[in-house]
Amino acid sequence: MAIIMDGKRLRDKILSNLKSEIEAFTKKPVLAVILVGDDPASRIYVNNKKKTAENIGIKSIVIEYPANIEEEVLLKKIKDLNSDDEVNAILVQLPLPRHIDKQKVIDAISPLKDVDCFTIENCGKLYTGLEPYVYPCTPQGILYLLDEYKINLEGKHVVVIGRSNLVGKPAAQLALNRNATVTVCHSHTKNLSDITKTADVLISAVGEVLIEDDMMKDDCVVIDVGIFRDCNGKVRGDVNFETVSKKASYITPVPGGVGPMTIASLMVNTVKLYKEQNKRSS
Ligand code: NAP
Repeated sequence: MAIIMDGKRLRDKILSNLKSEIEAFTKKPVLAVILVGDDPASRIYVNNKKKTAENIGIKSIVIEYPANIEEEVLLKKIKDLNSDDEVNAILVQLPLPRHIDKQKVIDAISPLKDVDCFTIENCGKLYTGLEPYVYPCTPQGILYLLDEYKINLEGKHVVVIGRSNLVGKPAAQLALNRNATVTVCHSHTKNLSDITKTADVLISAVGEVLIEDDMMKDDCVVIDVGIFRDCNGKVRGDVNFETVSKKASYITPVPGGVGPMTIASLMVNTVKLYKEQNKRSS
């Protein structure tokens, strides 16, 4: 039976350490979150971020716009936040309405305040082996979990399913940075299970039930990033937890695995940016 990697426990530990660190700061770090439209899931995510931030002493400003907001207004707001010395970190909650150019909006964020590591400049640093100011939240959260359970990636075959800019690609890059041998799979991958069966560590970031126990070798480490509601409204991940947990050596549950680590990473990143900006201004 697999050891369950407890994201909630590790999140609480990380947040508690951050809270102590922030208590010693002369000024509170400030995280600005832009929410466009009234997508209920986005609103829940934003509220959770705000609540978590404020619990540990980060001030969180939520700026809301209706779905029909003009791109120019959004760009102007980001420009203002960039030049506001009181604001340390900026996050634009995705998805944005279709009429808005997502990459243009993200790239308007100063790389020094880009808490998600989404701007072209920070992504460029990430993929060329330079250090971005912060690493993308979900993949970084996965590394925190692997470190907590002392799972070393060096020389291991890490199979990542999913190639989004949000999770799959940066997760693959971070595994590569740890000297893993990495295979990235996606919806056009042929014979997926032939590949997953060779994985020492399997990271699934798809958003549908995909991973069964006959797709993996014994003692594989399984990281389930997927989170969605099934047809009965139950929150679940990509992995058939019941069967896979009997074969894996370690596994993340959904909910309670990678999700809490993403929010912990966001707080870590806000504090990192705060410290970087303070260092520069002193
Ligand atoms: P996304 O942009 O929709 O990407 C999904 C990826 O899965 C794509 O690369 C797609 O391939 C691939 N894919 C789809 N069907 C597949 C199949 N049958 N076999 C192999 N690959 C397949 O989603 P995302 O933003 O990366 O998020 C993925 C999941 O993680 C979602 O459930 C999301 O809610 C969850 N998520 C969780 C957290 C967290 O904190 N726990 C954070 C972010 C995301 P193509 O590129 O070929 O289309």
